[in-house]
Amino acid sequence: MAKITCRDYGFECDYVVEGEVEYVIDEYRKHSIEEHGIEYSPEALTQVILRQQG
Ligand SMILES: [Zn+2]
Repeated sequence: MAKITCRDYGFECDYVVEGEVEYVIDEYRKHSIEEHGIEYSPEALTQVILRQQG
């Protein structure tokens, strides 16, 4: 299981996505583009998730 919260990225935002790695990456990318106008690469998000699980 993976998890990304917007607060990890320094946003004043309560968005949290949790689930399979691929799902979390997909959903968080959509959220950050739509809500914050920032596009993260799947590679960057994968690194974040792997670091958390390490
Ligand atoms: Zn957000």
